[in-house]
Amino acid sequence: MKKNIVIVGAGLAGSLCALYMLKRGYQVRIYERRPDMRKTALVAGRSINLALSKRGWTALEKVNVDEYVRDIAIPMPKRIMHDDDGSLTDQYYGNEDQAIFSVPRGGLNVLLMNLAEKEGAKIFFNHKCIDVSFDKAELIFYNNATQKNITIECDLIVGADGAYSAVRDKMMRQDRFQFSQFYIEHGYKELLIPANPDGTHKIEKNALHIWPRGNFMLIALPNLDGSYTCTLFSPFEGNDSFEKLDTTQKVNEFFSRVFPDFTKLIPDLSDQFFKNPTSSMGIFKCYPWHLNDYCVLIGDSAHATVPFYGQGMNASFEDCRILDELINDEDDLKSILIRYSQARKSNGDGLQDLSLHNFIVMRDKTADPKFLLQKKIEQKFSKLHPEKWVPLYSMVSFTNTPYSEAWKIGMKQEKLMEQIMSIENINELWDTDEVMKKMLKIVKNTQKSAKKCKKVQKSAKN
Ligand SMILES: Cc1cc2nc3c(=O)[nH]c(=O)nc-3n(C[C@H](O)[C@H](O)[C@H](O)COP(=O)(O)OP(=O)(O)OC[C@H]3O[C@@H](n4cnc5c(N)ncnc54)[C@H](O)[C@@H]3O)c2cc1C
Repeated sequence: MKKNIVIVGAGLAGSLCALYMLKRGYQVRIYERRPDMRKTALVAGRSINLALSKRGWTALEKVNVDEYVRDIAIPMPKRIMHDDDGSLTDQYYGNEDQAIFSVPRGGLNVLLMNLAEKEGAKIFFNHKCIDVSFDKAELIFYNNATQKNITIECDLIVGADGAYSAVRDKMMRQDRFQFSQFYIEHGYKELLIPANPDGTHKIEKNALHIWPRGNFMLIALPNLDGSYTCTLFSPFEGNDSFEKLDTTQKVNEFFSRVFPDFTKLIPDLSDQFFKNPTSSMGIFKCYPWHLNDYCVLIGDSAHATVPFYGQGMNASFEDCRILDELINDEDDLKSILIRYSQARKSNGDGLQDLSLHNFIVMRDKTADPKFLLQKKIEQKFSKLHPEKWVPLYSMVSFTNTPYSEAWKIGMKQEKLMEQIMSIENINELWDTDEVMKKMLKIVKNTQKSAKKCKKVQKSAKN
């Protein structure tokens, strides 16, 4: 097995991957385009936070770094929905003992880099990857400090350089390499709710707050210092869009009208609105995720997605774990990379489908009484028959079920729930044994016909 690893990008995926490779006894060098974030103001100031869930934790546990991350993570067992009139509704994500966690991106990245360095990784900052050889494990970096190019050789290149990956760009020279990108019509902008003067949180700490307003949506995740990092999702064009909100007056009027209770939490709202950038969101797909036996993509470089399921980082961490498991299985690197590409691609697609789907759920459905009732029924059924039903959100956030499988099961569940939701007077009947019995019957029938189908397919094959 080859031993000299070069990772491009010291972001979340690159830093965790380094820990996996170091644990195997490999030599690891990481080349990062940016300056060392530990020496700049990036971490101390505002840095966005991310929701970490089960598959992220699983990957962290495997290299024994989860305990360090727990120190900077805030559990969020529920979302709190903020209505137009300021009234609040709690929606638990799963059972009472299940939570997703808010972690600061900068803090987590610094932690993983520190741990990787402690284990022996060498990180070279201000080194931008500008070329990857097409026939051997060789890369060219532009060194910002010396303003010179350097050529680096290794045994395995790991492209962890994010959505606009230079490594993937070079892989595109492969015959039949597939690539597509799709931007949604919404963008996002970050805003910060400051802490109270005594450092406490202005709104409930242990929750993800959400203001769903159809075409617009605001979310807020808690930070340890009492502040909240908020993200406004809005179309780039059209009524009240980013393009149209071009004066202080328009911004203040928009927020007071659409998010009245939120507006009161940020004294310098319009200043922040104009100071902070507006960013786009897209889905980037490619295949294969490897090149010969010496180059592989992990994280956003392979499967950048829109952030509505809070799974991009979790999926990137899962890439590291799965790649490591495949390396465990056999020695031939080419075969490992082929198996990795094959195994992960369908899950990348599943992740992207789920992410787009959750955009609709979050912006439209979290405020829809029918949707809320459906979730209550699913939750009740799942508690009665946990072996027969895991709600989609729980499957994605609280288990390691492959994304592609979760997506397929989720779509089947949706169809099945249509039958339950069409029961007359379901609003009144939902809590009765009758409804649970009917649901059990439908689930059993669906399982029976799925089994039959499999049998037919099997005998057709034979
Ligand atoms: C608004 C928003 C909210 C999100 N919320 C969540 C969430 O709640 N939960 C979740 O799981 N995910 C979330 N995500 C997704 C998550 O941020 C990404 O999936 C994750 O950062 C991917 O990690 P990465 O290491 O692959 O890429 P990145 O974090 O982008 O890191 C790539 C690194 O490579 C470096 N680099 C780039 N080009 C080069 C080059 N040419 N040479 C050398 N270095 C280079 C970059 O400087 C960077 O350090 C969110 C994303 C967005 C945009």
